[in-house]
Amino acid sequence: MTIVYQSEPGRGQRWQTLLAERDARRALRIWPDCGDRESVRYLVTWRPPADIMRQFPNLEVLFSIGAGVDQFDFASLPDTLPVVRMVEPGIVQCMIEYVTFAVLGLHRDMPAYLAQQRQGEWRAHPVRPAMHRRVGVMGVGQLGSAVLKQLKRLGFDCHGWNRSPRQLDGIPVRHGAAELAPFLARSEILVCLLPLTEATRGMLDAKLFAGLPRGAGLVQVGRGPQLVDRDLLAALDDGQVGAAVLDVVDPEPLGEGHPFWVHPRVWLTPHIASVTQPDSAFERLYDNILRFERGEPMIGVVDRRLGY
Ligand code: NDP
Repeated sequence: MTIVYQSEPGRGQRWQTLLAERDARRALRIWPDCGDRESVRYLVTWRPPADIMRQFPNLEVLFSIGAGVDQFDFASLPDTLPVVRMVEPGIVQCMIEYVTFAVLGLHRDMPAYLAQQRQGEWRAHPVRPAMHRRVGVMGVGQLGSAVLKQLKRLGFDCHGWNRSPRQLDGIPVRHGAAELAPFLARSEILVCLLPLTEATRGMLDAKLFAGLPRGAGLVQVGRGPQLVDRDLLAALDDGQVGAAVLDVVDPEPLGEGHPFWVHPRVWLTPHIASVTQPDSAFERLYDNILRFERGEPMIGVVDRRLGY
């Protein structure tokens, strides 16, 4: 029973070692060296080949190497093929680190101080304690809820917004379209951790920015097509948005000459906020395969109707 891994080869080699230590009955092959394609039951990939069922006629589960699945063309996959996204503690920990860095950077006015340093300007801005900074997280799922808990530990006045109701100890979570406006109105730093779906595409637009407190900070770690670039640039220019930390953009990388590359109040990183960690991700993959074979529910099965 073969598992095919189609992504960065270093991680694949590590998974081969981990699998060999754990289970000699199975083989993990690294694409394109797939061996007998008829024996392939599981494919772990970021972007599967277009003719996936012709390549692997006995495929039983398609695993995403990452937490998102918006890169998959669901229409090209058989309805009966389960699609599973990566739910593992390494991704969560990395995202906690990145969002904490970004929120603290915005909270402590670091974009302004870096600009001042470049101008040789020594000037202090008022310092507010975290308890007086309101931070809102959109998307209170695996990542959003972990991030909210950490921001709360740091003392921030946190709240979330989600599609459906969600209980999170001591952290208020609003939900649905009707509660978006009050959520935005109290988000001095807004963190986007939404999956990319038809509902969230283009959601970070002029109307949304206008609902934030003036000078708010934005941390965009969801997916690039959720952001309307020209609306963010306009909001930055007129001061409605004070600064933005963008880990995801569209396209990736941005074209040469795109204003985000040089904007003094935009921090841009190349989609590195969180990365699947080889050892903990292997544990999740292996556990899910065993669950599948025992007929138990796997962790992270995608609801294709919702798109995430
Ligand atoms: P989850 O599926 O666990 O959580 C997604 C959350 O978003 C759910 O709580 C869901 O609500 C909510 N949601 C979905 N659609 C909407 C909507 N239209 N309006 C409001 N809330 C909505 O995903 P993860 O937390 O694991 O990951 C979230 C996203 O983070 C990924 O899809 C990916 O885009 C991004 N990501 C970015 C990375 C990076 O490096 N920049 C790395 C990893 C992920 P409900 O509870 O109702 O389902």
